[in-house]
Amino acid sequence: MRYSQYFIPTLKETPADAEIISHQLMLRAGLIRKVASGIYNYLPLGLRTIRKVEAIVRAEMDRAGALEILMPMANPAELWQESGRWEKYGKELLRFKDRKEAEFCMGPTHEEVVTDIVRREVRSYRQMPLNLYQIQTKFRDEIRPRFGLMRGREFIMKDAYSFDVNEAGAIAAYDKMYQAYRRIFERCGLNFRAVEADSGAIGGNYSHEFMVLADSGEDAIVSCNSCQYAANIEKAEARPPGAPEHCDPRPLEKVVTPGQRSIEEVSTFLGIAASETVKCLIFVADGEPVAVLLRGDHELNEIKLSKVLGASELALADEALVSKVTNAPVGFAGPIGLSIRVIADLAVAGLRNVVVGGNAADLHLKNANPGRDFTPSLYADLRNVVHDDLCPRCQGGVLEMWRGVEVGHVFKLGTRYSEAMKASFLDNDGKEQFVYMGCYGIGIGRTAAAAIEQNHDAGGIIWPMAIAPFEVIVTMLNPNDESVRTTAEALYTELQGLGVDVLLDDRDERAGSKFADADLIGIPLRVTVGARGVKDGILELQERRSGEKDLVAIAAMAAAVAEKVRLAKA
Ligand code: ATP
Ligand code: MG
Repeated sequence: MRYSQYFIPTLKETPADAEIISHQLMLRAGLIRKVASGIYNYLPLGLRTIRKVEAIVRAEMDRAGALEILMPMANPAELWQESGRWEKYGKELLRFKDRKEAEFCMGPTHEEVVTDIVRREVRSYRQMPLNLYQIQTKFRDEIRPRFGLMRGREFIMKDAYSFDVNEAGAIAAYDKMYQAYRRIFERCGLNFRAVEADSGAIGGNYSHEFMVLADSGEDAIVSCNSCQYAANIEKAEARPPGAPEHCDPRPLEKVVTPGQRSIEEVSTFLGIAASETVKCLIFVADGEPVAVLLRGDHELNEIKLSKVLGASELALADEALVSKVTNAPVGFAGPIGLSIRVIADLAVAGLRNVVVGGNAADLHLKNANPGRDFTPSLYADLRNVVHDDLCPRCQGGVLEMWRGVEVGHVFKLGTRYSEAMKASFLDNDGKEQFVYMGCYGIGIGRTAAAAIEQNHDAGGIIWPMAIAPFEVIVTMLNPNDESVRTTAEALYTELQGLGVDVLLDDRDERAGSKFADADLIGIPLRVTVGARGVKDGILELQERRSGEKDLVAIAAMAAAVAEKVRLAKA
């Protein structure tokens, strides 16, 4: 491709509405342009990277035995009503009517449509295992579309669905996808972790997320510093606390705390650590108030809480309800003397002589002791783990915290959809059984964005070779010089012949601005062709990432570039 005939509308200024670096650089390097909130055009350079990510995904899906199909964006409501998700999915599901008033939605994911294919066509155990995938445009009416392709409303996803005759088959299918995902993200050149995840609203009972490590990531993830354990904070557990050290209980004491409501205020006021207090949160779970106790410095994990309570609706109580159940304004709730259900995090059990709310305005109590002064009806794991918590899986390991971008997700679905939609088959005893399913997603655009989050510098993007829009840029210093033009053109043709993706910068521009553009768009290798080099028969080959320069004889240059490209993708 010749730069002069290509379309790379770069920007000098950082667009004001782009918060994270990948979004800024995708705009500045002319990869994408916004059409509406969360909806983008992919320009030529951006699309090349998207297609490269897709090609890696496709190759690994094919290698794992999955079969490519393409399902429609418009999904009829009936299928979603059958699975029960028409009601449940909420506002992310964009619904519309056709001219006959028939209801449809834009597919945010395709369990319903693919299950419909399988229930119609698969009758016998002999037709499985089966894994169908597509690379297709999804629509989710995200409440907060942001960060460019990272969280769009319309975005490209690879989604695969496995169908098996039993649980063992489903686990084998899951493992195959898990391994394929590892290879995909390795090939894309990303630093990632596969973490245990909560299976959320989609249903199912087992799942992993693939997280690209990046400070801008929306997810908090945890990994053990000595074993393989890694999990999303939504799911992560710590080793439960051992027996508390012996400590004599002191007599309960009232302490006046005027206007001191938050844990921070109370602990500062009393000159103690937050961990020497207990916070008491009043929630409403499916209409019932419940008090939740946590060590003062710990944070509630609402996903764990709703699981423990088996609640489908969970919300913090409003002020009126708090003052009704605690006889106090918000900020003074405590477990002693409450008449509603009280449950506590595991870490509360071992606490001694702590400060709790006094259930009266401007009052706290000192030296409260679980067992003596209050007895929760249940102790459970209710909190987010923190840095330095002990690993739940190994002895001696300590948990570390990271930020991550979720680029892929694998789920075991079991028979959640096949039962609801009656996708059954005859097993080898002629008995009718429901199909065992799994589903597996990768965000294509998000993967490209995550790659930029991990690979950039002040000059711009530094693409990993495998997903770079072009592998090498050949920069003519002065295209009007005959010898320069001839040499660069010859190199360009030779590189193309070797199968290298090459961009020829033949523009009549200053060298400085050509170099700056090459850096901004992140091409991993650059060959500079100038009159002096041509005269000496030696050209400069520079690596974008390290800045390292090699001097290579003109005749050997194409082979040297091809070899570097090959090594970088190996
Ligand atoms: P998130 O928690 O980030 O909203 P999700 O759990 O809703 O993601 P899945 O339903 O598992 O995502 O979708 C599979 C993959 O699709 C995700 O791992 C992610 O890479 C991608 N994806 C999901 N939502 C978006 C979005 N709004 N924009 C871009 N990619 C997305
Ligand atoms: Mg989502």
